[in-house]
Amino acid sequence: MSILLAEGIAFDVKVPIVVIGAGAAGLVAALSAREAGQDVLVLERDAVPRGSTALSAGLIPAPGTRWQKAAGIVDSPELFGRDIAAKASGEPDPLLLKTVTEAIGPTIEWLADHHDLPFSVIENFRYPGHTVCRMHGLPTRSGTELVDRLREAADRAGVDLLCGARVTSLFAELDGRVVGVEVERPDRTKERIECEMLILACNGYGGNKDLVQRHIPELGNALYFGHESNQGDALLWGQALGAATRHLSGHQGHGSVAHPHGILITWATITEGGFQVNLRGERFSDESHGYSEQAAVVLRQPEGIAWTIFDARIAGIARQFEDFRQAEALGAILTAETIEELASKMSLPIESLKANFEEANALKHAGGLDSFGRNFAGTPPLQPPYHAVRVTGALFHTQGGLVVDGKARVMRENGTALPNLLAVGGAACGVSGSKAEGYLSGNGLLSAVALGRVAGLATARAGTMSHKIN
Ligand SMILES: Cc1cc2nc3c(=O)[nH]c(=O)nc-3n(C[C@H](O)[C@H](O)[C@H](O)COP(=O)(O)OP(=O)(O)OC[C@H]3O[C@@H](n4cnc5c(N)ncnc54)[C@H](O)[C@@H]3O)c2cc1C
Repeated sequence: MSILLAEGIAFDVKVPIVVIGAGAAGLVAALSAREAGQDVLVLERDAVPRGSTALSAGLIPAPGTRWQKAAGIVDSPELFGRDIAAKASGEPDPLLLKTVTEAIGPTIEWLADHHDLPFSVIENFRYPGHTVCRMHGLPTRSGTELVDRLREAADRAGVDLLCGARVTSLFAELDGRVVGVEVERPDRTKERIECEMLILACNGYGGNKDLVQRHIPELGNALYFGHESNQGDALLWGQALGAATRHLSGHQGHGSVAHPHGILITWATITEGGFQVNLRGERFSDESHGYSEQAAVVLRQPEGIAWTIFDARIAGIARQFEDFRQAEALGAILTAETIEELASKMSLPIESLKANFEEANALKHAGGLDSFGRNFAGTPPLQPPYHAVRVTGALFHTQGGLVVDGKARVMRENGTALPNLLAVGGAACGVSGSKAEGYLSGNGLLSAVALGRVAGLATARAGTMSHKIN
């Protein structure tokens, strides 16, 4: 990844707006730029756009939407902003927080109304830290459906998408103005594309071991569960151009990835009243804080392994997720009619497991906190048949990145904006602060979709040039 001086460079083609990356952030930015009347080219290194977006459950938190209103859920950008700020201990930039919480509701309604993305709100469980139900998803509750539908919409809207096009270098002038990009095709040929404005939508650095070890040492050897192409290109280019960075230790981890199957087990298994034990059959934490910080907690247990334990009622809720159904189909989810049978299938000491069930169920009846401070109130006691799944902790994606303002413009340390560089989604610093526990469910796609919209509309001020893509 390099920045090259633009002087004397001959380009093969000119396009007003170039977007690097065709995940949720890049595709929403491109759709919005088209709406703003721009010709836009999205460059994607993969043969088919997937990104971390496709690996996610595609759940987007949004306040005040018509789906919430129809379900009688009272919510607002202010309430959502308070939830985000509380989870991240007040660290997020207030302007960015206001920007994304105000933009996201209208953006998913626009995606539904203008681009055929049939969202609905999840009403039957609430993720930790969200005051009300505000997660919106597509029918399959999968990120693959999200990115596929965005790609189809982009196609209909006349966005040019070039796949198998890895951007290897940016061309810039001495003042930081980006003039174009160099793209490498699968056959190693190179093309140079001139642009007036560049949108970095190539996510964070979760797939770059060196950067993870430097910035998030506690997950330096953890399983990386995001998309491999998230190599930190945006961060490295931005830094080379003099951009400010923030919260590089911030990230989304997850403390419940089926092992060795490598399938995400929804945290509804915990919020609905399940719990985790380690290989000694002992509880080890207040799991209800959140799945992100639980990644490092699980990795500190013997062999970096835990069991997530729940029951048939909770499995019924979890089954709305394709991942969970897949885990069941692959035999990752154990089932037993009694605690003894479950302990035997898990090869754990019966007494310890029984004591944990008894404590959790007693607290559900009587209220109060367990020794880790967990409050099981509001969830019914676990009933047979019981379920358990062996899990580990993983890094999902990074939340730190390039500092952007309320128009998604990349900022320098001195508070001025780089001339024509925008960053969206995982390429930009998000709203989760500097710690794993700062990640509120949905912050990833929130930054991708809301900032994508803001950046795409902000391209309206760029001029229009003729272009030709082969
Ligand atoms: C397992 C998992 C579950 C998750 N669940 C959720 C969830 O339910 N809700 C939520 O809000 N968030 C979730 N997230 C986080 C969410 O997926 C990301 O925050 C979001 O998808 C980021 O979108 P993006 O467009 O910035 O990045 P991506 O979707 O990763 O897209 C970036 C694209 O850029 C391309 N690219 C990279 N470098 C280059 C280059 N040099 N040249 C050309 N192309 C390049 C990549 O190939 C990729 O297609 C989850 C993440 C994971 C891994």
